[in-house]
Amino acid sequence: MSYATLKHYIDGQWVEPTGGREQDVVNPATNQPIGRLGLASRADLDKAIAAAERGFRQWRSVSAFERGKILRKAAELVRARAEEIATILTQEQGKVIAEARLEVLSAADIIDWFAGEGQRAYGRLIPARADGVRNMVILEPIGPVAGFAPWNFPVTQAVRKIAAALAAGCSIILKCPEETPGSPIGLVGCFHDAGVPAGVINLVYGVPAEISEYLIPHPSIRKVSFTGSVSVGKHLNALAASHMKRATMELGGHAPVLVFDDADVAHAAKLMAAFKYRNAGQVCVSPTRFFVHEKVYDNFVADFTGIASGLKVGAGLDPTTNMGPLANPRRVNAMEAFVADAEEKGARIATGGSRVGNEGNFFQPTVLTDIPENARVLSEEPFGPLALMLRFKDTDEVLSRANALPFGLASYAFTKNGNTATKVADALESGMVTINHFGIALPETPFGGVKDSGFGHEGGIEGLQVYMQAKFVSHMG
Ligand code: NAD
Repeated sequence: MSYATLKHYIDGQWVEPTGGREQDVVNPATNQPIGRLGLASRADLDKAIAAAERGFRQWRSVSAFERGKILRKAAELVRARAEEIATILTQEQGKVIAEARLEVLSAADIIDWFAGEGQRAYGRLIPARADGVRNMVILEPIGPVAGFAPWNFPVTQAVRKIAAALAAGCSIILKCPEETPGSPIGLVGCFHDAGVPAGVINLVYGVPAEISEYLIPHPSIRKVSFTGSVSVGKHLNALAASHMKRATMELGGHAPVLVFDDADVAHAAKLMAAFKYRNAGQVCVSPTRFFVHEKVYDNFVADFTGIASGLKVGAGLDPTTNMGPLANPRRVNAMEAFVADAEEKGARIATGGSRVGNEGNFFQPTVLTDIPENARVLSEEPFGPLALMLRFKDTDEVLSRANALPFGLASYAFTKNGNTATKVADALESGMVTINHFGIALPETPFGGVKDSGFGHEGGIEGLQVYMQAKFVSHMG
């Protein structure tokens, strides 16, 4: 099966990077190379920066109405090419093809949302103290953006940055993941064909640290948006701060799930097992620490484990597969190390716990119980198919355990009691809380974390605001 043509996109052209450095792109289901990707040199980045400067000057003067029309056309092209882009995504990232299709289609919805929201980026009038004075707050696009998107959702993580930046009137240089370059190329092709002018979007690949260390301090870049790990995010945010650049940081999580004794336990187990093993658990909002009330613990764990052990692990292009491989061998090694550490300290494996086969990066959907407090996996983000079962008795006690980690991205709760739901929603230290269903990560709702999980939002009106700056104008006469 053919894969993608791998090129960079600079100043409206598909180009080979200069400098001669290349690396393999590997299919995680086989660990066999499927493509060669060129890596950007300093000269390529300089071209992208100059193009983004020109692109910004042109794009900011296009009306929000016209920008919206071009973005909507790009969304239509994404829908029309969904099958092609989804196939590339599964080949390079591993996720099952049904999830890849959903990811690509949701990218089109994200573009549509921002296309409309750009037209509603209103400023405001402030009552003046004197006759004939107009006090205005005008929202302006902040300028050329440097975006860094990761490999777990190569299409939606890229489109959240592109669509919001473009709707606000910014240009963007996006460094997409070297491990999964083909699907972002397919996505950017839709913007190109929809008529986005040259220089407004630039897509590069390279050595991540080299690119971020060059772009972030560069005077042309006015805003940084990074999605990835907490450690890299802290480093890039410090760099952005030292150059007075605004930043959005979408970092890791270690999501708690609170299942109370009055919850619909079967529903909670079914829903959470489906989301736990989606994308093989490589999701920043993946439900991870399951705090289950002791009265319903055995039922919940039995239901959840039954579902986990019944999932078929295999290549993502096989339509009968429920969970694909992990995206790279690093993640399989990390899962083995987490499980070995927990087991050594006394944890029990209810199901899974091992890699599958000798080819590809397959790991079993895993449920751990009786996990001691000092197991590493209870404090470090697993970012893989590990579900951690923990008992609780008391609401205040479980809230303080749920809030004990430095992460604060997503939290989940299941209860039929309205007072408990309100208390939990108020007390959980996380950017997003969803109760009795999975209700986060829609284009129209703000997505973002608190504490070490970062700051700023992608999605919702907040997702547009981070690409704009307020200018106050007072005018007399
Ligand atoms: P990593 O920390 O090496 O890389 C994470 C991402 O950051 C990758 O996309 C990488 O290309 C990029 N990156 C790394 N160093 C960079 C730098 N100096 N400048 C710019 N970009 C840089 O880890 P990894 O092994 O690739 O991924 C595993 C960890 O990353 C997970 O534990 C998880 O916490 C995190 N992660 C989070 C998300 C998310 O959605 N928040 C997505 C992917 C990975």
